[in-house]
Amino acid sequence: MRHFRNGQTVEGHITVVLEREQSTLVFKNVPAQICENCGEEYLSADIHRKLLQKAEDAVYRGVDLELLRFAA
Ligand SMILES: [Zn+2]
Repeated sequence: MRHFRNGQTVEGHITVVLEREQSTLVFKNVPAQICENCGEEYLSADIHRKLLQKAEDAVYRGVDLELLRFAA
């Protein structure tokens, strides 16, 4: 989170792909901080936790591939 502390990021939305076991999840419209210098993307701990929860749920449901619009 070095870039974040430097205040060199801008707010934006990104697409995140998560692969867990046999499941691939594509989350669109995920809020993120994007580094103005290198384009690296940072998720807040809260957003990260929600993504992982949804991923675990998809694995449980036996999803192969799912495309989701992220909603907090
Ligand atoms: Zn950077």
